[in-house]
Amino acid sequence: MPESLRGKGVIAGIAMGKVMIVGQNLDGYLKNYKPEDQAKEAGKIEEALQAVAEMLQGNVRTLQEKNMPEQAAIMEAHRMMAQDPMLSGSMMEKVGELGSAPEAVLAAAGESAAMFEQMEDAYFRERAVDIRDVGKRIAKYILGVKEPAMGDGAVILCGYEIEPSVIANIPTEKIAGVLLGAGSTTCHAVIIAKARAIPTVVGIGDDIQKIADRDDVIIDGERGDILIDPSEETRETYEEKLAKQQELKSYYAKLAPLPAVTTDGAHVTLAANIGTHMDVDTALTYGCEGVGLFRSEFVFMGRKDIPNEEDQFKAYKEAVEKCQGKLCVIRTMDIGGDKPLPYLNIPKEDNPFLGCRAVRISLHRRDLFLPQLKAILRAGVYGKVAIMVPMIINVDEFKKVREFFEEAKVELTHEGKAYSDSVQLGIMVETPAAAVMAPILAKYVDFFSIGTNDLVQYTLAVDRGNHNISYLYSHFNPAVIMLIQRTIQAGIDKGIWVGMCGEMASDPYAAVILLAMGISELSMSAPSIPKVKEKIRSVSMERAKEVLAEVMKMEDGNEIKEYLHKAL
Ligand code: PEP
Ligand code: MG
Repeated sequence: MPESLRGKGVIAGIAMGKVMIVGQNLDGYLKNYKPEDQAKEAGKIEEALQAVAEMLQGNVRTLQEKNMPEQAAIMEAHRMMAQDPMLSGSMMEKVGELGSAPEAVLAAAGESAAMFEQMEDAYFRERAVDIRDVGKRIAKYILGVKEPAMGDGAVILCGYEIEPSVIANIPTEKIAGVLLGAGSTTCHAVIIAKARAIPTVVGIGDDIQKIADRDDVIIDGERGDILIDPSEETRETYEEKLAKQQELKSYYAKLAPLPAVTTDGAHVTLAANIGTHMDVDTALTYGCEGVGLFRSEFVFMGRKDIPNEEDQFKAYKEAVEKCQGKLCVIRTMDIGGDKPLPYLNIPKEDNPFLGCRAVRISLHRRDLFLPQLKAILRAGVYGKVAIMVPMIINVDEFKKVREFFEEAKVELTHEGKAYSDSVQLGIMVETPAAAVMAPILAKYVDFFSIGTNDLVQYTLAVDRGNHNISYLYSHFNPAVIMLIQRTIQAGIDKGIWVGMCGEMASDPYAAVILLAMGISELSMSAPSIPKVKEKIRSVSMERAKEVLAEVMKMEDGNEIKEYLHKAL
């Protein structure tokens, strides 16, 4: 029977395909799980233990065949845990107390893990993580939560919450769409989907339970529609829409190799914002000329502990190599605010956006900052790299950053590790303080990149995520425009390049006036590149400057927006 649901469309586009239920957070599934009698629940545990052990055995064989002995050994250890009689005995005891098979499995694994955590020997302490992982696998089997094992075609990923690492680890061409029960539009799963232009609907709520694994669905990522088992007629209508979408895509694809130049030859670099190295491939297909913002927080997220220098080096190196000699700007971790990281144990703050975040954390935590700088400097050997520091508010902070940067190089030299000496060190201008101080800061930094997402919020005192006051949140507010112009001019005066990596860069109308102000680079989620390029290729620099002169006379953001839409 056809059924339709509604969520919030956050990434436009039509997608059709089979659902794959994913999601590592089991809370929603546990809440909706209906236990049967004790004997049945115990039977489910037995069946799950058997199935998971067989599955792990299969993994071990595959990994051995692929000549990956270390990973095969880990999976073999997991298989042995799944068949450990002590663990299964404890699960059976717990099912008597708790009544629910998945809760019993998780509780038993949790208790056993806690015992390992008490042990003196570090090796045994680390096994706690493995036991929890195995427990989760068994619980998932009982709850019917599938591991994302991909087949031939692309699927529509569906889950109440999906961990960013789950999406990040699936190749783009295997994901047709994303459906999320939770409502956040700025969660990292959504940010990754956006970088890859995957149609996405969020905020489906508990209705998400109505969608089953392998259901046929159509989603409209603009309107937020979800059609389950659609009729033949509906399917035909959407197939036509999909064909139009493909036509537009091929038109944009033709723009990809063309430069972003005005009709009178002025060029601006169009770069991509990425969250993982995998986003670079997609970004290149949209014609990006480099990466203007690699949000390194993603390397820190979706894991239980701090990635060490080596882990980070691998992640950055891969992105840098994929950039094929084009500049890759890696932002040092921008944790805090709307991007918490539980394992850093940052105390709860009343105003996290005004609290201990971004560079403020980095400067307090040399154990985090130095390895990150070293990892990026090492990745610099494999291409062209720049380091960008978020949330700077004064010269002193930057001077301290520069000291760390030099110290990182000294350490690498002592350790005999190769690194690049030509990595640029710049800052994001995303606080009003940095924009006002731009003429001074420009003496110390190699470049500026304007982060309008935060600059708008801090200049106008408007929370970027608060829908009730979103009518006030505008990058065309003259106060914002003046700060941006001041920053660009400061860069020009001191001979450093200035880019922009906030959402404003993806607005084609804004791009024209930024170009006239003298911006060198615009960085955005890759799917926005074609429409910005199309606009730039349609105007002359002379016209852009005339338009800017008019804009600078205006007193109101709405007036500016309306004027730009008419004039261009
Ligand atoms: C910004 O603030 O404009 C920016 C690009 O950074 P983020 O959105 O990650 O805060
Ligand atoms: Mg920011």
